[in-house]
Amino acid sequence: MKGKIIKGIAGFYYVHDGHDKVYECKAKGIFRNQGLKPLVGDDVSVDVLSSEESLGNITEIFPRKNSLIRPASANVDQALVIFAVKEPAPNLNLLDRFLVMMGQQGLPCHVCISKTDLDVGEAERLAGIYEKAGYPSHLVSTYEKRGLSELSVLLAGKTTVMAGPSGVGKSSLMNLINPEAQMETGTVSAKIGRGRHTTRHTELFCVGEDTYLLDTPGFSSLEIEGMLCSELRFYYPEIEALEGKCRFQGCIHGKEPDCAVKKAVLEGGISRERYENYLQLYEELKAKKRYK
Ligand code: GDP
Ligand code: ZN
Repeated sequence: MKGKIIKGIAGFYYVHDGHDKVYECKAKGIFRNQGLKPLVGDDVSVDVLSSEESLGNITEIFPRKNSLIRPASANVDQALVIFAVKEPAPNLNLLDRFLVMMGQQGLPCHVCISKTDLDVGEAERLAGIYEKAGYPSHLVSTYEKRGLSELSVLLAGKTTVMAGPSGVGKSSLMNLINPEAQMETGTVSAKIGRGRHTTRHTELFCVGEDTYLLDTPGFSSLEIEGMLCSELRFYYPEIEALEGKCRFQGCIHGKEPDCAVKKAVLEGGISRERYENYLQLYEELKAKKRYK
């Protein structure tokens, strides 16, 4: 049997057969000898031990397209970050951190602004910021059924890392896209109390043929790691695009004179919010380097 690892807990791997069955599997020593640890998202071969009890052994991991460190996973095609126009109010600094982190791992990123029914003008403004920065941005509302088919097309046949703070409507969206793969929905206030006693695991949800979503737990603060402050500018596409246009080579677009990036911010070509988050992240990375 061939399938995909959708979850790993305490030495057990849960392998989805691509249809409706999930096998509880152990990975035998061969992987350990190769120094290879099975990852969520891995395509594997399974030796079925019991079809009735859905038990098996993973015997082979097929070559990976890629692997991510955060969240630990394999064969991911793209990232989708979801923020609500309000309720909860969007934290663009967190959004930018996620985009930097995914960019660092080489993934194409999409932005989704949800709950557009609450303030469509503001939703369009936010989507505009990210479109201009080079990220395809989508507007959705589960209440108004807006943008759902566009989202389905984006996800179809791919494995997508999905992230967004609690309460933005991720579960509601997924349940509309695939009513069979019910995810837990709740109200914003009810959700805050959740997860104190339960450990959440990185898990893949099958939402269609060859279509998987990776839910990323613990998305409330993101620390960028393994990056020099001087490299940050390469993970802001709209800043990267102006590389070489400033007076000084290696300009970090802070206090230098004749800076093309600062000029673009003044003229509106680069969003002020994005630029300010860039500066904040820059200082953060710089401080980290100093104290290590
Ligand atoms: P999750 O924590 O991201 O999975 O969010 P949920 O899907 O559980 O939704 C959180 C809350 O937002 C619930 O009370 C939903 O009814 C509400 N909600 C979901 N989609 C929309 C929407 O399109 N518009 C508005 N106004 N509220 C929504
Ligand atoms: Zn500059």
